[in-house]
Amino acid sequence: MTATIPLVDYLVLGDQPHLEAHECEACGARFFDRRNACAHCSGTTFRPAAIPTEGEVRAFTIVAFAAPGIDVPYVAAVVDCAGTSVRANLINVAPDPEHVHLGMKVRLATYPVGADSDGTEAIGFGFEPIS
Ligand SMILES: [Zn+2]
Repeated sequence: MTATIPLVDYLVLGDQPHLEAHECEACGARFFDRRNACAHCSGTTFRPAAIPTEGEVRAFTIVAFAAPGIDVPYVAAVVDCAGTSVRANLINVAPDPEHVHLGMKVRLATYPVGADSDGTEAIGFGFEPIS
């Protein structure tokens, strides 16, 4: 079996891959990056919070130009997962305005990004349409 590691540390792999945020114990604000203090209330204690894997597209941009090696066009989006905003790319959808729209229902999907020389596979995530 191939070993896998998540591309970002807030992606939790396993039978049911999901995102995990740091939730401020004082005010409930959620952050995906590591913080010393809450940006909302300056609280300094956080607990892990599993983010629902289904959500709705709240904003998106079709990216037509990117650094060499990155396939374009692709869709960069903000997905609202039951109140938590997640920035991610939309995958498994044609990157054009006919197929992507605000309010579209999407779910978390993972995909292999590449393997290192030991064969450890990195896993990235995006959101795909719920059909
Ligand atoms: Zn807070």
